[in-house]
Amino acid sequence: MSDYEPTIGLEVHAELATKTKLFCGCATGFGSPQNTQVCPVCIGMPGVLPVMNREAFKMALKAALAFNCAVETRTKFDRKNYYYPDLPKNYQISQNYNNLGTNGSIEIIVDGQPKKIGITNIHLEEDAGKSVHPEGSGTDVSMIDLNRAGMPLLEIVSEPDMHSVEEADAFMHAVRNALLYLEVSTCRMEQGVLRFEASISLAPAGSDVLGSRVEVKNLNSMKAVQKVLRYEIGRQTEILTGGGEIPSETLLWNETLERSEPMRRKEVAQDYRYFPEPDLVPVQMTQEYIEKIRDSLPELPLERRARFVTEHGLSEYDAGVLVQDKGVADYFEETAKACGEAKAASNWVMNDVLSSIKEKQINSLELNAFLAPKHLGDIIKMIAEGLTNATTARQIYAEAVESHKPPRQILEEKGLAQISDDEELGRIVDSVIEENPQAVTDSAAGKKQAAGFLVGQVMKKTRGQANPKLVNKILKEKLS
Ligand code: ZN
Ligand code: MN
Repeated sequence: MSDYEPTIGLEVHAELATKTKLFCGCATGFGSPQNTQVCPVCIGMPGVLPVMNREAFKMALKAALAFNCAVETRTKFDRKNYYYPDLPKNYQISQNYNNLGTNGSIEIIVDGQPKKIGITNIHLEEDAGKSVHPEGSGTDVSMIDLNRAGMPLLEIVSEPDMHSVEEADAFMHAVRNALLYLEVSTCRMEQGVLRFEASISLAPAGSDVLGSRVEVKNLNSMKAVQKVLRYEIGRQTEILTGGGEIPSETLLWNETLERSEPMRRKEVAQDYRYFPEPDLVPVQMTQEYIEKIRDSLPELPLERRARFVTEHGLSEYDAGVLVQDKGVADYFEETAKACGEAKAASNWVMNDVLSSIKEKQINSLELNAFLAPKHLGDIIKMIAEGLTNATTARQIYAEAVESHKPPRQILEEKGLAQISDDEELGRIVDSVIEENPQAVTDSAAGKKQAAGFLVGQVMKKTRGQANPKLVNKILKEKLS
């Protein structure tokens, strides 16, 4: 398997978060009844004229600049002609000859190593409608929903710079993260807002010549992309190892059977007859306008990482992990603000919160509903105040996630308060000394293990609630 190296390129389609469609005033809300967000323009009635949505253009420009693309002051739209049942106009307005942004890049981090992935171009285009095949209707009923027709799409085309599934995955996450930071897309994959196409070829490791390229269309999640890439690496390796050849073709991923299948020939004949869109004027920007938008860009992950290091005193590594996901980074900052303990907040978020996200499959943008940052901040404060120790704090965390009760209330109700009372702990230490004469003798002889055992016995008797520092101190005093 290691004899062949994959070369991967990705295209990302992201619906922009505008209120209205790209060339008409129709609403873009998700989940509305079928064919209720349509008008003559977006369903392609003859004679209608498109008018460009300025906000969508601005969002696309922001993305092009954030992805370090070169942006010309003049850009325009083209027609991509093809027939499809969900495209009654018979063409899609896109950009082909003058993309909004070209020659960009984005940084990914794999195994702690940063790597630049080239962006061939970023452009703006309209979405098509959707074919709906109602369940239980057999194969003889197809319906068309045009609510999506004319929605603004940002297309980001990468260079074939990725050579592993991990790099491709890091790229998708980095793109999603950047779009979230820019606030130009919700990136909700379950709503089809973020979609992918992958191209992959295999060549003998170290070879300069690329193998023949296979494209996979219509991938609706990062998971699907990962699966298809793994599948294709396996499939192509097997064919090449057996002396066979890979035909250049376009495939579809069959999610049910977990395999890729060739698309019908007719669907892939790529003769789009691009020509300049005659119904739209070119977009002419001034250099000042471009610079104004560039200056208005929000803080992006790399800048935020640097700020986390200087402002919160985090390590480069910790800051890097946190900013990789905007939801997680926001949550960390709110928690740190709530408790004033940035380092502890980053530890809690990186360990407990990240594993909760993984375990419970939480959308990181909805972390506030999972556990209010103020509540996590309270738990951290309670440890700092000596009210609880790390072990009990984890119990409180779990309980707060379940009940959404304030952590201080949980501490009281469950009687989880740390025992820091000298007298009470003294009594418990006395009983432990009485019950374990051998360990006492060994400890007196300088055996560290025996002393540790005694502390452990005290913790056991208090169900982990004793203040460990205090136990150590009292034990030392009593034994000396
Ligand atoms: Zn419309
Ligand atoms: Mn496209």
